Amino acid sequence: MAKHFDYICIGGGSGGIASANRAAMYGAKVAIIEAKALGGTCVNVGCVPKKVMWHGAQIAEVMHLYAKDYGFDVDVKSFNWGKLVENREAYISRIHASYDNVLGNNNVEVINGFATFVDAKTIEVNGEHYTADHILIAVGGEPTIPNVPGAEYGIDSNGFFELNEQPKRTAIVGAGYIAVEIAGVLSAFGTDTHLFVRKESPLRSFDPMIVDTLVEVMAAEGPTLHTHSIPKQVVKEADGSITLHFENGESHNTDLLIWAIGRHPTTDKINLQATGVETNSRGYIKVDQYQQTNVAGIYCVGDIMEGGIELTPIAVKAGRQLSERLFNNKPDAKMDYKLVPTVVFSHPPIGTIGLTTQEAIDQYGEDNVKVYQSGFTAMYTAVTTHRQPCKMKLVCVGADEKVVGLHGIGYTVDEMIQGFGVAIKMGATKADFDSVVAIHPTGSEEFVTMR
Ligand code: FAD
Ligand code: NDP
Repeated sequence: MAKHFDYICIGGGSGGIASANRAAMYGAKVAIIEAKALGGTCVNVGCVPKKVMWHGAQIAEVMHLYAKDYGFDVDVKSFNWGKLVENREAYISRIHASYDNVLGNNNVEVINGFATFVDAKTIEVNGEHYTADHILIAVGGEPTIPNVPGAEYGIDSNGFFELNEQPKRTAIVGAGYIAVEIAGVLSAFGTDTHLFVRKESPLRSFDPMIVDTLVEVMAAEGPTLHTHSIPKQVVKEADGSITLHFENGESHNTDLLIWAIGRHPTTDKINLQATGVETNSRGYIKVDQYQQTNVAGIYCVGDIMEGGIELTPIAVKAGRQLSERLFNNKPDAKMDYKLVPTVVFSHPPIGTIGLTTQEAIDQYGEDNVKVYQSGFTAMYTAVTTHRQPCKMKLVCVGADEKVVGLHGIGYTVDEMIQGFGVAIKMGATKADFDSVVAIHPTGSEEFVTMR
């Protein structure tokens, strides 16, 4: 006899946990099924370990680039990568314990194992059957490996977090968030790091001001950027090293190869066909604006939904909104996917909200777009011989100059933009920005003083 729940969440990652807890807080009988570790990609092989490594890299930069000019005679004897990894994983274990506690306090039943559908109301885990009135699919994605000979000699971002020793030489292939972030971290720690992008630059969907500045800083600090480099073949050499061959005829020898060319959904592994839930040709699940699939009682949030944004707070908020709708009598509760602030933890960090200049022109017409820009040397580096630029931009539209885009790259930009996200979401104009008294001396004051 199958055990019955009001709500089952498949996947104990960002979306599943958030939705399960919120539903249980309203009295629903909830189970969450997780095949690996609670917390999913973000906690175990994503945001959390990445940010810890980024913080470590910041410390390396302080010592190597800035400390001396601030008067410190620093003699760094060694860097123990293993120690950092050990502390990072201990922190993640504490997060696991905290998730266990919260789920336990909310009476959410945690089922360990890999879930597959039997039919639209029944799920099988380890030979046991579970049924539910409502089922959330939040199984997330996995890294994509390219289809080139020898691709198996490379690792992916999951493998990066398994490294117990710092690589001496690394090649990273990819041009998105993960490639840029991992390349920045390794480079700051002193690994000879080469980033290979297949087109003219990394982060091509970002505003050109951001991309140009990032490339400028990479040229000054590393990693070494190689453009127009499409991998053709990977060869494992007799000495254990790896040689990447590119379509442009060039090649590169390295110790470690990391693929970071995007992620794909894992919906092909859960016997979704037994439910009739529709996916697109790439396996992303189709949902309406209420996260509802085409099958009654089955919903989807997070990285595997068609047209979503692969960020933890997106999965979390969509999962919570769904539970508000299903279990708290809020029939209109839904996720708003517009004007999402996002940060790339690059070196220096990038923050962006809304439209790039070009997107605003395409949407509103060139005559209706006004751009304000500011560029300066971050004060933190203005007193040191090693300088780092900081660039900021506001994209405004219409006679009232409504701010539809905000972009920044530079020291602490990652911590600057959350509040501006509130303002932009509320429809703030350039005059509203200017009406705020600047906080001095900070970098963020530039956003309210641009002319
Ligand atoms: P996931 O968090 O991936 O959770 C899915 C869970 O489902 C997994 O635990 C998986 O084991 C489980 N599962 C899969 N199939 C089954 C099954 N059949 N049965 C049971 N369980 C199953 N986002 C940010 O906002 N900020 C960042 O800084 C950031 N950094 C990132 C860095 C890296 C390296 C990566 C890879 C991602 C990063 N992200 C970041 C993206 C973020 O991690 C994802 O958007 C987020 O985790 C998606 O949540 P989700 O609930 O859709 O899926
Ligand atoms: P992305 O989708 O961000 O970027 C992957 C890029 O790799 C593509 O845009 C493409 O860029 C390039 N690429 C694609 N295929 C190939 C190929 N065959 N060979 C070479 N290059 C290729 O994927 P990521 O894996 O970096 O990250 C996945 C998502 O996770 C991100 O989009 C983001 O939403 C999330 N994330 C968020 C973070 C954060 O919030 N700080 C950090 C890390 C991840 P091009 O077309 O220019 O070549």
